[in-house]
Amino acid sequence: MTVRPGVANSLSLVEDQPEPAAEEGSVLVEALAVGICGTDHEIIAGEYGEAPPGADRLVIGHESLGRVIEDSSGTLRPGDLVAGIVRYPDPVPCSNCAVGEWDMCRNGQYTEHGIKGLAGFARDRWRVEPRFAVGLDPALAQVGVLLEPTSVVAKAWDHIERIGHRAEWQPQTVLVTGAGPIGLLAALLGTQRGLTVHVLDRNTEGPKPELVAGLGATYHTVPVNDLPFEPDVVIECTGAPTVVLDVMCKAAPTGIVCLAGVSSGGRSIDFDAGALNRALVLENNVVFGSVNANRRHWNMAAQALARADQVWLESLITRRVPVNRYADAYTPGPDDIKVVLEFAS
Ligand code: BGC
Repeated sequence: MTVRPGVANSLSLVEDQPEPAAEEGSVLVEALAVGICGTDHEIIAGEYGEAPPGADRLVIGHESLGRVIEDSSGTLRPGDLVAGIVRYPDPVPCSNCAVGEWDMCRNGQYTEHGIKGLAGFARDRWRVEPRFAVGLDPALAQVGVLLEPTSVVAKAWDHIERIGHRAEWQPQTVLVTGAGPIGLLAALLGTQRGLTVHVLDRNTEGPKPELVAGLGATYHTVPVNDLPFEPDVVIECTGAPTVVLDVMCKAAPTGIVCLAGVSSGGRSIDFDAGALNRALVLENNVVFGSVNANRRHWNMAAQALARADQVWLESLITRRVPVNRYADAYTPGPDDIKVVLEFAS
């Protein structure tokens, strides 16, 4: 599955591609599935994405699941279930990439499979180095494609906890805004921590209310300001400007707001920045952004998925579409949570 980055609606299935080059890594993987997210839609719309140097097309797909065919390094075994890590460190490398924290790259020269300068995983076979392949419990064959979005929220939670421990910290209430895959997985990780989780979304119908209830969390559709509590932790997954500002004001004293949604920008709103400054300073609040994940977070995510209710995880995947019907897969449907493109084996 390829696009011409920067060109809207250039998505096409290219046949008779060469086998992945040996330099791409010792682990040869047969693709099983690729998950589709908002970033893919932005790339298809020509708003994001970058082809590898010298190429005009980018193979898309960054949420992967596959089965190892061979690994000449002997690290992984044929038949192992694996997902490929999305981001590779920058070549300089910066101080963070140098120690494996490519998720915190400081110079922007990182590359990302299926997004920025590196071929993605929506191809029959792909290769990676063993340190960029994460093994999954064989029991996760149906839901392992959720590992990548789970790694993103595992990082968000890891950083929330590191920030929280700057002082005595006993959080109880979590607010997640946006009940898409990222929001629902963030809520799952909140319930796994024994916290009281609330999820806010604008949809009153469709699968979201039931998915939230299935976690033992509470679903809300009111404006943030009308919620009857002040959350200790907020994970903002909508990227909607008014929701972003409202949650910053709503957090409890010493509250932590993690921004995990990406806004498209270009819209101005009238806002009292001084009042926000006052609220944040006088209550010791923290607002921070979080993107991507490093290997440690991928391992945390694999453990979180293995601990979760498999039936609940399966219900996040609302459509599984064979690759020959890819146009359906990339056309958003009203009740979609996670749509997955399946590769025939
Ligand atoms: C991916 C991240 C990536 C980010 C920015 C997200 O959709 O999940 O891994 O870093 O896009 O490109």
